[in-house]
Amino acid sequence: MTTATFAGVCPECETDLTVPPIVKGETLTCPECILTLRVEDVADGTLTLRMVEVALRDWGQ
Ligand SMILES: [Zn+2]
Repeated sequence: MTTATFAGVCPECETDLTVPPIVKGETLTCPECILTLRVEDVADGTLTLRMVEVALRDWGQ
């Protein structure tokens, strides 16, 4: 069987995430804690996620 989605766990709130196939380096947002997470690694449909610091509101000011 092939996996149509990838699975990962939010490193902040430990919510199980299921997402369409994405590649290393892409980002997604946790629906629970609204953190931006970057894909550090993909192995067998399982994502390794790392929280990314984002400060859009202060950008350029
Ligand atoms: Zn989260």
